[in-house]
This record gives sequence, structure tokens and C-alpha cells, in this order.
Amino acid sequence: MSKQTNILLIYTGGTIGMIKDYKSGVLKAFNFKKLLKNIPELTQLDCHIDTISFDKPIDSSNMNTSHWVLIATIIEEHYESHDGFVVLHGSDTMSYSASALSFMLENLTKPVIFTGSQLPIGDLRTDAKENLITSIQIAALKHKSKAVVQEVGLYFEYKLYRANRTTKINAEHFEAFDSLNFPPLIESGVHLNVNNEYLMRSKRTKKFRVHKKMDTNVAILKLFPGINETIVNAFLEETSLKALVIETYGSGNAPTSSWLVKALKSALKRGVHIVSVTQCSGGSVIMGQYATSQQLKKLKLINGKDITTEAAITKLMYLLGSSVSSQSFKTIFETSLRGEMQ
Ligand code: ASP
Repeated sequence: MSKQTNILLIYTGGTIGMIKDYKSGVLKAFNFKKLLKNIPELTQLDCHIDTISFDKPIDSSNMNTSHWVLIATIIEEHYESHDGFVVLHGSDTMSYSASALSFMLENLTKPVIFTGSQLPIGDLRTDAKENLITSIQIAALKHKSKAVVQEVGLYFEYKLYRANRTTKINAEHFEAFDSLNFPPLIESGVHLNVNNEYLMRSKRTKKFRVHKKMDTNVAILKLFPGINETIVNAFLEETSLKALVIETYGSGNAPTSSWLVKALKSALKRGVHIVSVTQCSGGSVIMGQYATSQQLKKLKLINGKDITTEAAITKLMYLLGSSVSSQSFKTIFETSLRGEMQ
């Protein structure tokens, strides 16, 4: 007889568990137990479900690194006793949190699936039930008694994506996420269609490790025509800044103005790590393809290739927190650690 599959549901908050305050009309987080009452279907699933809720469920706009550490710690404490984890999270910052967790959890051999919804679970037209039920099924999915998914995924509207490849692309559609540079890992239709060739496999001999130090002395600078020298200088001269994601145009292009080159150069000289990512939702930085990225290549900016901004900023927090040496920082960043880049 095969052992029962144990799934841990971690409720952090988000629309999925919210209810409308009829006086003010705003959506607020509510009690997790009430949330579960709205899904009697859960009892029909062929697995045992335990639940842990944040003491105070939050809108994901209030997420910060201490919440990520809390999620990582809950998973660490239940890693042996449970076969898979489903994290219920608001969709607004889900790609950031899920990317962060993908770096914090090293050598995962069990699924960690983030999901949420665009409409509360109590709403008649809710997308929450399908998202939650299928996420649990995916977290419980096994082949020859091994977990099918052995990484951090994000499930929304019939697709499981590699979490650190996702971005929230729509504030209204049920299809709120996309992963433009990497195909879905699983597609849900009449059957769960598993795209085995895209799934990550970590070596079982390597021990599961949880990294809890995330350094927040980081920032994102998005370029735009008309960007102002005084403001950029003030930003780059901030002494606590340790690493920066610069969202460049197209395949990694930027204005060639000498003031910008000078500002980047002096930040680099101070030891600030600077990563170039494209502000396009899909595609990759190709440094040196155009004359307008030659200057960045010469400065030896870190090439973010096809990484998302969400994965880039959380990877910086993780690498800074892991005290990676300055000499190897660029090489390590440019290496795919959890399938986050090509
Ligand atoms: N504001 C909500 C949140 O991110 C939106 C959602 O859950 O979809 O917590």
C-alpha cells in the first residue's frame, strides 16, 4: 500500500481569502478557517491536507523579506513530514516572493506551488477554487513515488510556470501571469499535461538547504527617454546601495550620454553590482549587439540575459545575503542557479 500524500497549505493572504467590507466597499483579508469552509471539494482530494496561516494574513503589497523568511522556515520545518507545499499568496507581488523562495530553497526535491486568485473564493465567479484545487493536485503529483515537480512553481489559470520566470501581466484577467521566456511546466485541461523536458531535477545526493539572509540594499532603475542626470546621480551615489538592476531598452540598450556612463562607472568603482535586464517582457539582453549597449559591455555590467526583473532583484538580495565575493559575483549572477535564466 502506498503511503498517503501529505500536503501543507500555507496561507499568507491575498484576494483568494478576502471578503468585501460592505461599509467601505474595500477588500480585506479574513480568517483562514472560513476560507476552507468555502471549498468543501478539498475533502474529495486523494491526499491529506494540513494548513498553516500567517497570524495576520496580508495583502501581498505588504510582503517583505521577513515574510519570505517565515514561508521558508515553515517549509523547512515541515520538509520531512510533507510531500508538497502550496503557498496561497496575493497575486500583486507573487512573482517576487516565488522568485525569492526559489533562491532561498536550494536542492528542492519537493514541489512548492504558489497560487492565488483574481476574485475572492466566496465570489460566485471565482477563479480561486480551480487554482487552489489544481495546485494541490500538482503538489501531490508523483511518478514512481517521486515528486513530479521538484522546484518552486506558480500556478494560475490552467498553467504551472517556473516561478522565477513569471511576471504579473494583467490586473483584471484571470490569466494574470505569463512566463514569456520559458514554456509552462504543466498545462491543465481534461488531463494534467506535464512537459517533462522543462522540469528541473536536483541531485538527490545534495542536501536541501534553506538560505534566510536576504540583503535589501538593492534598487531598480528603469530607463526612459528624458531621464534626468541630477536624479540618477543622487540615486547612484547613495552609499548604502550594494546592487542595482537597471532596466535597459530592448536587447539591453541605453543612452550613450557621458554623464550616465560616468555615473555608472563611479558606482561600479565603489563596488556596486549592476545588472542589465531588458524592460521588454520577453526576450534577452545581448550586450554589444547595438552601439548603444557597447558602453555597458565595456563597463562590464552584469548581463541579466533573459531574467525577469523580479528574479533579478531577488537573486541580488540572495547573493548579497550569501556573501558571495566581489570577484565571483558577476560570474555567479550570470549562471543559472534555479533555472531563472538561459
Ligand atoms: N492586492 C491583492 C494582493 O496581492 C491582489 C491579489 O491577491 O490578487 O494581495
